Amino acid sequence: MKNDNNIPYKIYLSEDEMPRQWYNVRADMKNKPAPLLNPGTGAPLKAEELTPIFCEELVKQELDDNTAYFDIPEEILRYYKTYRPSPLVRAYLLEEALGTPAKIYYKFEGNNTSGSHKLNSALAQAYYAKQQGLKGVTTETGAGQWGTALSMACSFFGLDCKVYMVKVSYEQKPFRREVMRTYGASVTPSPSMETEVGRRILAEFPGTTGSLGCAISEAVEAATTHEGYRYVLGSVLNQVLLHQSVIGLEAKAALDKYGVKPDIIIGCAGGGSNLGGLISPFMGEKLRGEADYRIIAVEPASCPSFTRGKFAYDFCDTGKVCPLAKMYTLGSGFIPAPNHAGGLRYHGMSSILSQLYHDGYMEATSVVQTDVFEAAEQFARVEGILPAPESSHAIRAAIDEALKCKETGEEKTILFGLTGTGYFDMFAYEKFHNGEMSDYVPTDEELAASFATLPNIEG
Ligand SMILES: *Cc1c(COP(=O)(O)O)cnc(C)c1O
Repeated sequence: MKNDNNIPYKIYLSEDEMPRQWYNVRADMKNKPAPLLNPGTGAPLKAEELTPIFCEELVKQELDDNTAYFDIPEEILRYYKTYRPSPLVRAYLLEEALGTPAKIYYKFEGNNTSGSHKLNSALAQAYYAKQQGLKGVTTETGAGQWGTALSMACSFFGLDCKVYMVKVSYEQKPFRREVMRTYGASVTPSPSMETEVGRRILAEFPGTTGSLGCAISEAVEAATTHEGYRYVLGSVLNQVLLHQSVIGLEAKAALDKYGVKPDIIIGCAGGGSNLGGLISPFMGEKLRGEADYRIIAVEPASCPSFTRGKFAYDFCDTGKVCPLAKMYTLGSGFIPAPNHAGGLRYHGMSSILSQLYHDGYMEATSVVQTDVFEAAEQFARVEGILPAPESSHAIRAAIDEALKCKETGEEKTILFGLTGTGYFDMFAYEKFHNGEMSDYVPTDEELAASFATLPNIEG
């Protein structure tokens, strides 16, 4: 049996060893991510244009490209301590099953009731909303993880929580919906008749099952038309990557304890928050020239923003009410094929990660969903944890890298982010088990049609 230098199966930090500050990777970037633009005027957004949408403190965090560290408020740390530090697991069992000389570690973020890393930012965003004296927050949710995390955070801090849930998920994932309601959130299927943008989208596309971009438009409208409400977002934004840096800071502290340095760091990429958080302290070292790491973003072949998207200014939402962001994007009208079951469906990507990818600091790869579920099942059978389909994109890539090591005999150290559990994704697993899951990769023509909707902005 493999057992290196007595490295335990699970490396835990004590509460005292938990990070007290979030790390802002932008502070170490030479090329800062491009600023958000006003969708009406095309000019860079000022703080006062953002504060009607977002909480004041979060706007500061969003626009701050220079402060390297932000203190984590005590009230947030208190809730972090209910489920953090999250374990860093040495995947001895997976290594053995693969017969690889590679050393595999994963940072497991599914150890809380929301089942994913999203609670890390939900707590921060709810806290700042409460501090500002707001009544509540609005948001969108796709598969439901973000809505669940936010409803938990809002119940902790005593805030009202209004969630617009992509209609197809609302219908297919009733348990997620009920978890949110258990924590006191109200959940509306999107597009809905409650908002102007929802009514417009329904008139144009009757019978649509909705998309994240559309739910975002509705949530933003609801926030800006209700006194005492602001909008919060679970991924993509700079502030979310900042909060998620707690993942990477803990992972690095745990590895440092045992003198382990990863060669390869892998994360799945939807909007980029878990990946951005996991890699942040490592990327900081890389940007400052102190160390080098191979960093790989893994995305679905059916929603390939990094690997086939354009680096351009685009709308963050289908309704075109949100600011414009410069990012790798498939076009705000892009909707993944209906057979896509693996999550990570957002058309764009974090501006921070987009800039880092553009500047060559990280790589990206795409995987088809049947390969993802095969990896998920293999992982579950040896490591025990039932992974979320999203997380399983990272598992696929980690297994593939470990198998390459088996061929070459290299003892590389691989770290990947296991972002969550898949208990609410059993319809997707069922399709896979029944052999009913297929892979769909969009054609160049389909992508060209959706690129044609990009706004014409130099940047
Ligand atoms: C939301 C989610 C993701 C993808 O979002 P990112 O912002 O790209 O991290 C990945 N895994 C799980 C479990 C999620 O809930």
